[in-house]
Amino acid sequence: MSTGLETSLYLHFPFCLRKCPYCDFASEPLDEAGGLAAARRYLDALAIELDLRAATDEFRGASVPTLYLGGGTPTVLPADWLAEIISRIKQRFALSPEAEITVEANPGTVDEEKIAALLAAGVNRVSLGVQSFSDAVLRALGRIHNAAEAEAAVQAARAAGCANLNLDLIYGIPNQSLEEWRETLQRALDLQPEHVATYALSVEPGTPLAADVETGRLPAPDDDLSADMYAASGELLCGAGYSHYEISNFARPGRESQHNRRYWANAEYLGLGASAHCYRGGLRWNNLPSQGVYTVWLERGRLPVARAEALSQRQRLGETLMLGLRRAEGVNEEEVANLCGIAPREAFSEEIDRLCSQGLLIAAAGDLRVPREKWFISNEVLAQFVP
Ligand code: SF4
Repeated sequence: MSTGLETSLYLHFPFCLRKCPYCDFASEPLDEAGGLAAARRYLDALAIELDLRAATDEFRGASVPTLYLGGGTPTVLPADWLAEIISRIKQRFALSPEAEITVEANPGTVDEEKIAALLAAGVNRVSLGVQSFSDAVLRALGRIHNAAEAEAAVQAARAAGCANLNLDLIYGIPNQSLEEWRETLQRALDLQPEHVATYALSVEPGTPLAADVETGRLPAPDDDLSADMYAASGELLCGAGYSHYEISNFARPGRESQHNRRYWANAEYLGLGASAHCYRGGLRWNNLPSQGVYTVWLERGRLPVARAEALSQRQRLGETLMLGLRRAEGVNEEEVANLCGIAPREAFSEEIDRLCSQGLLIAAAGDLRVPREKWFISNEVLAQFVP
């Protein structure tokens, strides 16, 4: 069935049990969205979008090396609904038996039975939004679960047979101490996940968290403390045998996220669902953000594209550098030039020289990379390549 075309596939599920006060992702509480009836309509719309895209010249017969079910919280939906859409993907695309199939899940929305059903449907990687093993921190984050429930979710995943588990953790939370963060890392390590992702809390405009910080009800994240927490992550996780292979990601040998690896390599991908992005053939487009409007458009047989743009060579290059420099190995200049049709030094020679002279970038043996000790401030480096 494969035509030689290859694309990663991302499916967005914009529902959660409750909205976390720091979150600006495209998701809404299931109840407010219209409950499971609305989610069912959304899933049917997703199936229509899948069929429409699979029938286009860009994607017909494409092989799919990685599939990612993200959100939101995909696991607020019944497992057989998720199995249904995975089965449809297998009918429309060449999803090989080796494909990495990840589902994002939050503690409080999964048990052993549900995870077993997802594994039976083909899922082979579960990414759990644990965020912390401190109940006080979880309350501050407005999460739906406590630390014991997070541990129970890990145990349920293992009991169901999940052999590839990621734990997402957040640091830099108002009133969180370095000691608390180290304890969270240690409890995560005790559970022996194959992969750990650590994210600095970002205060996003318009969120309840931002309002609390603006009015002084909560302190703003402390950059120095966050830097210490970032350093502690590297120290503990690398000390336990994980490789720090990307700015925010750690993996046991051979357990790096294949889906994200493709993303950081600026490989093409098809995103389906409300607010999902796509990148194919030098074109980028994104879907309508509202799940309700998205659903109605597809029920009327229309692709729900909100915005599309053709990327210039310079844009493509800038994005390839911004993504690739997140990885420990950085980028190979020749590979980037072949991919983008323009060499990094043709478009960004001044920036590269300046960053190298500031010690923020290393150029060696045809590669460019950000030195590890500068990873915490890597946004400064990556921002230089905004096209
Ligand atoms: S569970 Fe995740 S996606 Fe849902 S509201 Fe919380 S942070 Fe946002």
